[in-house]
Amino acid sequence: MPTHERELLQLDQIVSFLIVPILVNGGFWGYIGFDDCHTERRWSASEESILVAIAASIGGAIKRQHTEEQMRYQAFHDSLTGLPNRTLFDHCLSQSLLQAQHSGELMAVMFLDLDRFKTINDTLGHAVGDQLLQETTLRLRACLREEDTIARWGGDEFTIVLPNLKTPEDVTKIAQRITNALKPAFHLAGQDLYVTSSMGIALYPHHGRDAETLLKNADAALYCAKEEGRNNYQFYATTLNSQASQLLTLDHHLHHALERNEFVLHYQPQFNVATGEVTQMEALVRWQHPQLGLVSPTTFIALAEDNGLILPIGEWVLQSACAQAVAWQAAGLLPHRVAVNLSARQFQQPDLVERIAAILEQVGLPPDCLELEITETAAMRNIDYTTTVLHELRQMGVRISMDDFGTGYSSLSYLKKFPLHALKIDRSFVTDLVDNSEDVAIINSIITLGHGLNLTVVAEGVETQDQMERLRSLNCYEMQGYWFSKPLPLFDATQFLQTQSLGSRQPTSLPWEIDTSIVAVPHPF
Ligand code: C2E
Ligand code: MG
Ligand code: MG
Repeated sequence: MPTHERELLQLDQIVSFLIVPILVNGGFWGYIGFDDCHTERRWSASEESILVAIAASIGGAIKRQHTEEQMRYQAFHDSLTGLPNRTLFDHCLSQSLLQAQHSGELMAVMFLDLDRFKTINDTLGHAVGDQLLQETTLRLRACLREEDTIARWGGDEFTIVLPNLKTPEDVTKIAQRITNALKPAFHLAGQDLYVTSSMGIALYPHHGRDAETLLKNADAALYCAKEEGRNNYQFYATTLNSQASQLLTLDHHLHHALERNEFVLHYQPQFNVATGEVTQMEALVRWQHPQLGLVSPTTFIALAEDNGLILPIGEWVLQSACAQAVAWQAAGLLPHRVAVNLSARQFQQPDLVERIAAILEQVGLPPDCLELEITETAAMRNIDYTTTVLHELRQMGVRISMDDFGTGYSSLSYLKKFPLHALKIDRSFVTDLVDNSEDVAIINSIITLGHGLNLTVVAEGVETQDQMERLRSLNCYEMQGYWFSKPLPLFDATQFLQTQSLGSRQPTSLPWEIDTSIVAVPHPF
C-alpha cells in the first residue's frame, strides 16, 4: 500500500484486509471487505469465497432494486419525453386539488395541443415528429414553475396542473409564456418548422371542483381554442360550452360512424353549357347521424382532419365513388367520370398514389374516369411534394382539379408546375357576379389564366340564370351549382342520369324534374 494509505489503515489499527468488488450489471458499484486488526495474515480460500458470495448477493439485490425503480418509472412516465403519463398526472392532480381545498388558493388545469402536428408527422415522418415532441417538451418545461406538473396525455396533447395561483391572470401569463416559447423555429431534419399551440384552461374552483370535471372542461375549452382558429388559449366558459361539447360529442360519435356505415355519398353533376352535357358527377360525403340527421361535411371534415379519421373516411369515399362510377358505366349511363375531394391530410399520405391505384384496380375503373379535387392550401403545403405526387397521378391517367380556386394561397407561378386538368372557381366569386364588377374582373382573369394554361375552367355554386349567362358570356362553359342540380342522393342521382341520357338525345324537350325536396331547381335544358 502507498504510505499515506497504510497510515490511514493504521489509524483504525487495520493490519490486514481482504476486499472483493461488488458488480452491478458487470460494472463496478463498490466493494466489501474483511479487516483484521490484530495480526498481519494471509486470508483463507473459504474466507475469500464467503466474501465473494456476499458481494454477489449484494450486487444482485441492488440490480433488482434498480430494475424495480426503472419499472416504477416506466409505469408512470412517457418513454419519449420522460414526462409523467396520465396515471401519474391523475395522481398529481388529486394531490394539488387536496392542497387547493386546504389553502383556498386557485388552481388551473390546462390542455395543450400542438396545431397541425399530425400533418408534420404524416409529411416528415414519425422520427421528426418524435424529435419535435421532445424539443417542445423542453421548451414547455422551461415556461413552468417548480411546483407545476406537465404530463404527456397522448399524441401531441399535453396536460398541465398549475397549483398555488393568486389570480386567473397568473395562468394567462403562463399561457403567454408558452405561446412565446414556441414561436422560434424548430430546426429539425434540415428545415425550420414553425409550431403553434392551442390551450384550454379550467380553473378550480370556478370551472369544477373535482379532477374529472376540470379535465373535461379544459378539454372543452381546447375545442373552443381550436374553433377560434388555433394558436390561442381559451378559458372554459359555460356559454361557450354548448358548441364545444357538441363538437366533443360529434368527435366521439365520428369514431364509430365508419363501422356503423353512417356515411353516404351524394352526387352533384357538373355541366358543360355549350354542349348541354353532364361531364362528371362530384361525390360529396354526408354523415347520416342517428340523432342529428344529415351532417354536412363542413362540420365534420375539419374534425376528421384533426383526429386522423379523414384517412379511413377518405378511403371509403374514394372506394365507394369509384365503385359507383363502374356501376353507372355498366348500366350504360353517362358521364363516365366521378370527381372525389381529397383533404389536405389525405393528400399528404406517403402511399397515396399506390392506394389510389389499388382502388382503381380493385373496382375496375379506368384512371381517366376519376378526377381528384385538391385545394390550393393542401397543394401549397409542400410544393415539391405536390408536384411529384401530381405528376405520378397524371402519369397513371387520373385527372386533377384545383378546388375552391381563388380562396387559398394564390401563387400563380405554381399553376404552371402542377399538371392540372381543371380549375374550379370558388363559389364566393360567383355569388356576387352579376352586380359586383370586381368579381367579374377576378373571374374574367381566372378564366383567361386557366384557358391560357390549357385548363378546363369550372364555375362552382351557380345558382341563378343570370350568373350562368354571365359566365357563359365570359367564355366559361363548365358549371356546377344549384341552378343545375343540388347534390343528389344515390337513387336520385341515378334517376337523374337516366333522364339525362334520354335528354341528351332530345336536348330541349325534357326539362328535368324529380319529386324530391333535395332538388330545388329543375334542370334548365
Ligand atoms: P366543394 O368540394 O367545393 O363542394 C361544393 C360544395 O358547395 C358542396 O357543399 C355543395 O353542396 C355546395 N354547392 C354546390 N352548388 C352550390 C350552389 O349553387 N350554392 C351553394 N350555396 N352551395 C353549393 P358540401 O357538400 O356541404 O361540401 C362542402 C365541402 O366539404 C366540399 O366543398 C369539400 O371541400 C368538402 N367535402 C365534401 N365531401 C368530401 C369528401 O368526401 N372528402 C373531403 N376531403 N372533403 C369533402
Ligand atoms: Mg369539390
Ligand atoms: Mg369547391
